[in-house]
Amino acid sequence: MSKPIIATTSLAGCFGCHMSILDIDEKILDLIELVEFNKSPIDDIKTFTKKCDIGLIEGGCCNDENVHVLKDFRANCKILVSVGECAIMGGLPAMRNGIPVKECLQEAYLFGPTVSDVNTDKILPKDEDIPIILDRVYPCHEVVKIDYFLPGCPPSAELIWQALIALVTGDKMKLPYEVIKYD
Ligand code: SF4
Repeated sequence: MSKPIIATTSLAGCFGCHMSILDIDEKILDLIELVEFNKSPIDDIKTFTKKCDIGLIEGGCCNDENVHVLKDFRANCKILVSVGECAIMGGLPAMRNGIPVKECLQEAYLFGPTVSDVNTDKILPKDEDIPIILDRVYPCHEVVKIDYFLPGCPPSAELIWQALIALVTGDKMKLPYEVIKYD
């Protein structure tokens, strides 16, 4: 019987959620027995080579490339899971949502304390290869349909493990208090 196929990506995130996936420690050996990885920073496969069963999404959408990648995941994965607060609510990157994009760019490149002395020509980066920043950071479910949400910053390794096992075995997903509490 073929193994379920998993893909993962990091959009506007810090890779902490991917670190939490790796934090399942030696259970990663069990996971590799259970599933096959496709497009993911974990195996460095850059593009989908086949349709996948589960897509794990870290981070929300802060630029047009994030939107493109997220839609690509929706098109290639039967189940999409928002992993962590950035994917679910925008997280830390969404702290800019109350500030106009122009002001954010000016602070980042022109007038911020770490750049004002360096960027003396007052150049704003502009190149067709640089993704276009969006007016705000969007949680994933505002861009595509998301099937499951794993809360936390990051979700604990145990939560990710239990959710993955439920998804690949078809069991009902149980998220007991001990697994999702943060105190
Ligand atoms: S939810 Fe937390 S750990 Fe995950 S990408 Fe966002 S900031 Fe990083």
